[in-house]
Amino acid sequence: MPRCDICSARDAVVYQTHTGLRLCKACFFSNVIARVSREIFRYGMIKHSDRILIGVSGGKDSFVLLDILSQIHEPSRLGGATIIEGIDGYNRAEHIAEIKRMATERGVELHVVSIKELWGASVDEMVRMSIEKGQRISPCTYCGIHRRKSLNLIARELGYNKVATAHNLDDEVQTIVINILRGDIARLYMNHPLRPKGSGLFIDKIKPLRKIYEWETAKYAYLASYKPQEVECPYLELFPSLRARVRDMIYRIEASKPGSMLRLLEWFDNVFNPLKQNNRETPKLGLCSICGEPTSPNRSICKSCELQIKSLGEVKIARSVLKTQL
Ligand SMILES: [Zn+2]
Ligand SMILES: [Zn+2]
Repeated sequence: MPRCDICSARDAVVYQTHTGLRLCKACFFSNVIARVSREIFRYGMIKHSDRILIGVSGGKDSFVLLDILSQIHEPSRLGGATIIEGIDGYNRAEHIAEIKRMATERGVELHVVSIKELWGASVDEMVRMSIEKGQRISPCTYCGIHRRKSLNLIARELGYNKVATAHNLDDEVQTIVINILRGDIARLYMNHPLRPKGSGLFIDKIKPLRKIYEWETAKYAYLASYKPQEVECPYLELFPSLRARVRDMIYRIEASKPGSMLRLLEWFDNVFNPLKQNNRETPKLGLCSICGEPTSPNRSICKSCELQIKSLGEVKIARSVLKTQL
């Protein structure tokens, strides 16, 4: 086993293809933490006084995010939120004890909320009713929208001023390529860390891991002896997505030209920087006439209310998080 290229003192355990460096465990951890800190600083993601709610699924990415944030931010000003989707065969409930232990060890309070408790129906129930009504809406749409809305609500009700999600470099590059393929310029801008806020009701979102490869978060979790819950969602196989095809294409390019994904995200950050677009107006979001939450420009009801009408036939207004924490 060769020695670490940084410290020369220990055996290397990681080969970082995009830098060509062989790193020992300690130098690999320092490398990842330094890159995350640099990204946070570059885009002013975190202020000293911020109270940050971290989306904690229990997967490797959210473990790494919680582990790193608890080292660089006061843990008493961090919280974790675990959302139970209610998908049969994909039950986070069994892993809650492990997730709680992981958060508590780092001094971070964990909030556990289920979509069914909050919105009156689980993701499985929404999908079943939607199929019964002949709708062709992907389960990921139901799940994604309600997870996002729940995180925003938990943060607002419990007094957090930022929401941190564990999206990694792979997620970000896939999203950019998908939006390019769809020609959706508005959404491209929305992915930039400096995007303007559309509404005061939306809690600021940050993605500190956006320049960290997914294989790196997997390696980090493994070297830290964390056993993530990595059961694939059963809906993934039933509804193969454009994202999966885009991911495979990007991985082939990355394999032949290591570093391509990082360079693509750097290009995006420079070209789609909203601060460089002097004449671009910030889209002003309206409020949904049913639930009162912010909605996209030119819409009178929000996407989640629209989905609930399509599947449930009525809108269930979220119950207060304060009363539904598990
Ligand atoms: Zn080293
Ligand atoms: Zn609504």
